[in-house]
Amino acid sequence: MRPRDLSAHQAYVPGRGAEEVARELGMDPDELTKLSSNENPHGPSPDAVAAIEGAAPEVHVYPKSAHTDLTDALADRWNLASEQVWVSAGADGALDYLSRAFLEPGDRVLTPNPGFAYYPMSARYHHGEVAEYGLSKADDFAQTADVVLDAYDGERIVYVTTPHNPTGSEMGRDDIVDLLESVADDTLVVVDEAYGEYSEKPSSIDLLSEHDNLAVTRTFSKAFGLAGLRIGYAAVPESWADAYARVNTPFAASEVACRAALAALGDEAHVEKSVETAKWARQYYRDELDAETWPSGANFVLASVGDASAVAEAAQRRGVIVRDTSSFGLPECIRVSCGTREETRRAVEVLNEVIADADAGVPEA
Ligand SMILES: *Cc1c(COP(=O)(O)O)cnc(C)c1O
Repeated sequence: MRPRDLSAHQAYVPGRGAEEVARELGMDPDELTKLSSNENPHGPSPDAVAAIEGAAPEVHVYPKSAHTDLTDALADRWNLASEQVWVSAGADGALDYLSRAFLEPGDRVLTPNPGFAYYPMSARYHHGEVAEYGLSKADDFAQTADVVLDAYDGERIVYVTTPHNPTGSEMGRDDIVDLLESVADDTLVVVDEAYGEYSEKPSSIDLLSEHDNLAVTRTFSKAFGLAGLRIGYAAVPESWADAYARVNTPFAASEVACRAALAALGDEAHVEKSVETAKWARQYYRDELDAETWPSGANFVLASVGDASAVAEAAQRRGVIVRDTSSFGLPECIRVSCGTREETRRAVEVLNEVIADADAGVPEA
């Protein structure tokens, strides 16, 4: 007995967790500054915490009304019909729903390189094949319609991440419209706005009224601080929105997650504070890190540090966990999430020491 041929599949490489690293180093997890997974350093909204506590006695019941309430609130927020909101277990769940709805076996998807690992994973789970377009470091990872169209060859799904993980670069609205209008009619453009709240640019969701080859994904994992609950959604055009009923995993978005997301959506002050901190921190990294960095529209900054794996390891020994971007195809870079002011200052202090040691050829302890 064997599973099907999974040799083309690659396991997801998550940022390292504080518990895991603490155990390895014999430290208390509270002594560690974890800036490897773009989580919200302020935690969840207190309203979300209260909603989670309030939902606890009810979890013997399948989630139904909470899912409807969240869908309606998101539809209201974005000026969409409720069917146009595909609530899912994380935005990753929404990417799977789109794969299920669009991919026939052997269909190709076009993904950014460097880029988010789940796009090719989801395509392969759904018997699809993967092609890539390159974002060039020499060009500061610029995202334009032409960069994508140069590589485009009629793929069924084209992924755009804006702000982009792990580089922070963005695609402007004119380029997104250009892309939507340039690809074939049966090519779906997925605009992944996992970091949309941190950006100065408008969401592409309003383009759904004019373009039916678009889907926009969003998540509660980042600015809303609910990564551990797994809740996100896709916004889709009206013309094929009813496909949700045929592709979604029943009750994949849990009662607790839906209620917490609804409460988090209502706590605008918490999101504003989170976004403000991230904007301060990303500028602080740009100004203070002794490394080349790139402008970021998200809650992290990419920095070129030479041997990223060695730098990330040395920083970790000093209690700061950052993401070595080797698994994204950038072995010379690290991605540092925006922390609180205190965490961000500490990260810069430690990283600058580590970078200086590496430059001076100080052997690793
Ligand atoms: C974090 C992230 C997501 C969404 O993650 P979920 O936790 O599944 O909602 C999607 N796309 C990108 C590029 C991300 O970085």
